[in-house]
Amino acid sequence: ARKFFVGGNWKCNGTSEEVKKIVSTLNDGQVASADVVDVVVSPPFVFLPLVKSLLRSDFHVAAQNCWVKKGGAYTGEISAEMLLNLDIHWVILGHSERRLLLGESNDFVGDKVAYALSKGLKVIACVGETLEQRESGATVEVVAAQTKAIAERISDWTNVVLAYEPVWAIGTGKVATPAQAQEVHYELRKWLQINVSVEVAESTRIIYGGSVSGANCKELAAQPDVDGFLVGGASLKPEFVDIINSAT
Ligand code: 13P
Repeated sequence: ARKFFVGGNWKCNGTSEEVKKIVSTLNDGQVASADVVDVVVSPPFVFLPLVKSLLRSDFHVAAQNCWVKKGGAYTGEISAEMLLNLDIHWVILGHSERRLLLGESNDFVGDKVAYALSKGLKVIACVGETLEQRESGATVEVVAAQTKAIAERISDWTNVVLAYEPVWAIGTGKVATPAQAQEVHYELRKWLQINVSVEVAESTRIIYGGSVSGANCKELAAQPDVDGFLVGGASLKPEFVDIINSAT
């Protein structure tokens, strides 16, 4: 069985005071055991050391991005090596906000995932279609192409969590229905089975992101191919604890 996984992507939000408050709410939360659910919170780079030092030890910390290769003359970038130096073991890569607003291509994201894994980071790799792509019937083709660019560059999927985040559901309050999420997760797992292996398809966590809330998480979590969530807005609020507990 795949262990439930809940990530909190704080995006570009927070002051150090707010960060301390969120962390203390999480630290006080009654949550299912780490045997049942992996919890990973992802603050902006500048707050990584603060969160790392304050957060309960059964939760993990992720960066929201990292550079595509070893550090050097890349102004404004943060390398995988630096994250490891801070004892950060997770990174989110290929988020749609970076793909769409910053022009990260499938190949670039694939290169980043491969490099981060090669250094020993664990990766939450994001895929997802835009509303226009969904309406033109291209959803499966789009997420398959995004996944393929990763698959052709890596051989070991042990440290990868795949996040399906339909762009039209992100920050819109328009959550995918459980059936819509299940359909794409099923297709992604089938893609992995055909193109990677039966074992990787069975063991890789495929998590859903896009307007997940305390109110809708249970129904989504009940879908057979939904192995957890990547949460944006609600990860800044106390209801994140309820989302973590949808594991059980
Ligand atoms: P929201 O939960 O705010 O829709 O964001 C989802 C997301 O992009 C997580 O990475």
